[in-house]
Amino acid sequence: MAGILFIISAPSGSGKSTLVSQLRTLVEGLDFSISYTTRALRGSETDGREYHFTTREEFERMIGAGDFLEWAEVFGNYYGTAVSALSHAKDAGKDLLLDIDVQGAVQVMKKLPEAVSIFILPPSPEVLERRLRNRSAAEHVTSEMVIQSRLAEARNELKQMWDYKYALVNDVLDEAVAELRAIVLCERGDGDGVQALASSCRTDAASPRLRAALSTFDD
Ligand code: ADP
Ligand code: 5GP
Repeated sequence: MAGILFIISAPSGSGKSTLVSQLRTLVEGLDFSISYTTRALRGSETDGREYHFTTREEFERMIGAGDFLEWAEVFGNYYGTAVSALSHAKDAGKDLLLDIDVQGAVQVMKKLPEAVSIFILPPSPEVLERRLRNRSAAEHVTSEMVIQSRLAEARNELKQMWDYKYALVNDVLDEAVAELRAIVLCERGDGDGVQALASSCRTDAASPRLRAALSTFDD
């Protein structure tokens, strides 16, 4: 079945990009929406591949023209999903995956309540901090301020987790990938053998694993 919209959100550094790229090697028929952003290119990024990189002026013109399904300001930069991403995926007979922050996800949930929302949590603030530091070191950009602001923002974003249909903890990578795959297959009605795994990730099931990860972020 084509035409399902998947929304994936996670605090920065949780491993969302890693999970999504593995998912795309395992599941066919998933289109990935390439967002627009005003942030600078990072590492080996290429314009038109990870993002469409643009200026604030052009982004604001697009807001005015109604070109975005949703948009938000994240860490001082604009990010937005083009309305056209939906029709492109539909025309290609594919499901569409949006990797967007919680502010954008709330906008899409309101406009398209049938969208399937998935939240990814890191196992603990200590692990999140370690992943943020490892990634910064790999990209040769270590800014203490950036790491601290991402950690603080993570606590805020986690408060929105219950608004999502599913949530999973990215602790052991292979397990998290298997859960993500199970969710996508079950939502397509093709989840023979992985139904229980997908159901265990529903936020309304409030699994002990989910609650344990959340509690590590309590102040
Ligand atoms: P995000 O897209 O959520 O900001 P990334 O996918 O860039 O996060 O991952 C952040 C860092 O954590 C990367 O260095 C990545 O290799 C690492 N990472 C991701 N998932 C795991 C995992 N399950 N176990 C250990 N390291 C992980
Ligand atoms: P990064 O700059 O690390 O690639 O992304 C920073 C944050 O912006 C991530 O939480 C990511 O999900 C979010 N993001 C990326 N694209 C979009 C988008 O189109 N809309 C919204 N609202 N957030 C986005």
